[in-house]
Amino acid sequence: MAASVHPARFDEIHEAFRRYPEPLALAGEGTGIVQANEAWWALFGAARLMPLDPEEAPAGDDGWHPARLRLTGTGETKPVVARRIGPDGRVVLAAAPPGMAAQDGVIEGLQGRVAELERLAATDHLTGAWNRAHFERTIAAELERCRAGRLPVSLVLVDIDHFKRVNDTHGHAAGDAVLRELVAVMRTRIRASDLLFRWGGEEFAVLVSGAGWRGAERVAENLRQAVAGHDFPVAGRVTVSAGAAEHDGEESLPAWFGRLDAALYAAKAAGRDRVLADRRGSSDAWAREAGRSALHLAWQEAYECGEATIDDEHRELFALANRAIDATLGGGGREGVLAALDGLIAHVARHFADEEAILARLRYGDLEPHRRAHEGLVRRALWLRERVGSGEAGMGALVEFLAQDVVARHMLTMDRAFFPLFERRAG
Ligand code: GH3
Ligand code: MG
Ligand code: MG
Repeated sequence: MAASVHPARFDEIHEAFRRYPEPLALAGEGTGIVQANEAWWALFGAARLMPLDPEEAPAGDDGWHPARLRLTGTGETKPVVARRIGPDGRVVLAAAPPGMAAQDGVIEGLQGRVAELERLAATDHLTGAWNRAHFERTIAAELERCRAGRLPVSLVLVDIDHFKRVNDTHGHAAGDAVLRELVAVMRTRIRASDLLFRWGGEEFAVLVSGAGWRGAERVAENLRQAVAGHDFPVAGRVTVSAGAAEHDGEESLPAWFGRLDAALYAAKAAGRDRVLADRRGSSDAWAREAGRSALHLAWQEAYECGEATIDDEHRELFALANRAIDATLGGGGREGVLAALDGLIAHVARHFADEEAILARLRYGDLEPHRRAHEGLVRRALWLRERVGSGEAGMGALVEFLAQDVVARHMLTMDRAFFPLFERRAG
């Protein structure tokens, strides 16, 4: 198909597209605008443009439908008209403003040519996979999209094992056939949202959005198995090695590719026909963050009784308990965690004494059972602390007891019973 359009015609078509008086743009599915003409840039400015809104209205008889385009800078949306063209309708031709361009027959004439131009510019001629240039053009927007949504992004790099031997034994044409067949096999094993790129000679990359390194490792292993179990024409059995790496959220593309390459190299060095993942990524940090805040005690206004000293100390207890939770989860070292726990216990004991003194001054009727409850909690905390010190109990158990039983449960049940004392005085 590549040979069907003469290069001279290409330039002509491209020039016509570029200079066409109405705003026109080409977008890949999920990849944002990949090409736009001068009128388009004049209308929308230099803002990077995100993918067309997937919630599209049904197409009219002429194949055009209204769509919305989101500008990355402001999040503002603009009405356009669009129609799907190119292989599998994955390329979208967009025109703006709605109505004007759609009626014009000239676009109809351009459309097929432009689609072909775009497809050839974005795909690898031998295998039909997306090409490296397409990756380079779209990866920045993809990383930005995922970062905004706190979605991990991973790459899987697949390299055919001893491919030179295939060429040497069966000839270059047979080698080409293996490359085409390999892409067909891999396509059956990836989701529609995963993008398959020809990375270089006999190397292919899969961009897995929404998966951390563990998910990418699974994708890679799935691909490896599919290839190893496939009977290739002429060549017969072919195996691949694969590396996987998740973008860490900060690093440059070369740094990310470096870790990916290293993982692939390690898989090769370990004997080929295997998968290796680099175990770094932002997905772990995000999960840790989410887990931590789920465990945190959240202070509420309703926890205030109206007595300043008691309220200040209660708030401080929440903060100290959260700090102890962080220390336990953050791997800050045993000494650091024990120091946080000792600080919390000391604060609890001081607070109980202060609270009892205040309640005694106000002749609180239930002071005695309250004092006994305090005593019991402190005794149990010190007992657990001793067992943690001697290694008989884990630090998790002590944190759990202090945060949940001492701070949260006691405050939210027994302490609540004396709240009316202060409300009465305040009112
Ligand atoms: P390894 O397991 O270490 O990856 O060994 P290998 O032989 O696969 O690796 P190497 O990188 O040494 O060789 C890659 C070969 O792939 C050499 C090159 O001729 C061949 N190749 C690259 N692109 C094409 C292509 O488009 N068609 C064919 N038939 N062969 C290609
Ligand atoms: Mg190679
Ligand atoms: Mg190879």
